[in-house]
Amino acid sequence: MERKHLKNGFTLRISGAPDETLASLPPPRQVAAVAARTRFLKPRLAVKVGDAVKTGTLLFADKRRPELRFLSPGAGRVSAVNFGPRRSLQEVVIDLEEPEEAEAFPRLDEAGLAAVDPEELRRRIVEGGLWSLIRELPFREAAALDRRPPQVVVFLDNLEPFHPSPRVYLQGRVERFRFGLRVLEKLSGRPPIVTACTGGAETVAELKPLITDLLQGRYPAHDPGVLLYRSRHRPEQRQAWIVEGQDVLLLAELLQEGRYPIRRIVTLGGPGVASPGHLEVRLGAPLADLVGGRAAVGERLRFVAGGVLTGARAESASFLALHEKALTLIPEGDRPGGLLEWMLPGRQKPSYSRAFLSSWMPSSVPMDCNRHGGIRACIQCAFCMRVCPVDILPQLTYKAVLAGETEEALAHGLLDCVECGLCSLVCPSKIELLETLQRAKAAVREEMR
Ligand code: SF4
Ligand code: SF4
Repeated sequence: MERKHLKNGFTLRISGAPDETLASLPPPRQVAAVAARTRFLKPRLAVKVGDAVKTGTLLFADKRRPELRFLSPGAGRVSAVNFGPRRSLQEVVIDLEEPEEAEAFPRLDEAGLAAVDPEELRRRIVEGGLWSLIRELPFREAAALDRRPPQVVVFLDNLEPFHPSPRVYLQGRVERFRFGLRVLEKLSGRPPIVTACTGGAETVAELKPLITDLLQGRYPAHDPGVLLYRSRHRPEQRQAWIVEGQDVLLLAELLQEGRYPIRRIVTLGGPGVASPGHLEVRLGAPLADLVGGRAAVGERLRFVAGGVLTGARAESASFLALHEKALTLIPEGDRPGGLLEWMLPGRQKPSYSRAFLSSWMPSSVPMDCNRHGGIRACIQCAFCMRVCPVDILPQLTYKAVLAGETEEALAHGLLDCVECGLCSLVCPSKIELLETLQRAKAAVREEMR
């Protein structure tokens, strides 16, 4: 196991961290396959309202990349197909009916895995609707089917507030995880790099022999893009497939059991949750069911599917999407500022700057969605530069993007951006650096297609 210390970054200490107790939820009455919060997806429907479906029946696929298939997380009848702005598909809702039937996929054991052709293995994962869980750098989209990656990185921990702990989601499932690693090795032709963070997955004794890189540092030290930036000197060496630890288990379950995996371990956390923790839920479950009676009373809450910094805003009436493993609730914070509030020492305000008392104290503080002021011009404070884990000089890259100087933005390292969101978080001028850099990366991706 190689130890690596990754510099820069920032640990956001906010309240509502889930503990490691695992609660199971009662089965939902409805589930849905969600298209809304999946980047780069252009879905084409394969069902209509009233159709009967089994668990694992195709509901929609990407128009440009038909290998990205989204399967039904339950058996029953399609009760709604919801569209958003400009008729973009949001979700396909299934009313569950007993007894639930499931599509059968071919099963694979250890001997079968040793003998199977990599092309056949890819085909099985595509048919089983899980190809989109294997993503590739630099754009973090589903991996191309026709290319073998230079390396595969599996990351077990996620330091962003708040994601499932590997000590919970790998409990009693290490053998299955090993099988998943062998699947990735077969697909890519090389053994995966497996990373863990100090104090996280490395504390599980059975996992230690599997971990190749032990990472130490602040958020986002867990991110494979940061590891590759620090350890590979040429940009072409930083291309890789990246897979989350829990997704390795899902790939293994699909292949070993021959059924579409619908069990997920997710975290419910954030300052808007009264009793945060880990939940065992069903894929596609209503987000409102996940919250149940655990939300803080008396607050208007924002639902964020994913972590605080990289998650996406979700409607409370929405459902859990394929790639999501966390639900964070944050008070909207749309109250007006109190009289002379700016003179208070800020003991309860999370901040990067040392101007508030909270940054000198070790305890977690509540956070809300209040921006505390409007967007202002850049004051050259260099906060964004100090936290950026990949030395991009975010303010200069941002200016190059706004000026349409794509070449200059690329020279600054635009494609190395790991989209961690720290630059936007720490900017005292409230400049949306992350959003702009993500848009610029997406435009470069379109040009490269
Ligand atoms: S530019 Fe911003 S979002 Fe990108 S890696 Fe740096 S801090 Fe993170
Ligand atoms: S943190 Fe914001 S204000 Fe400070 S240098 Fe970066 S962009 Fe400018």
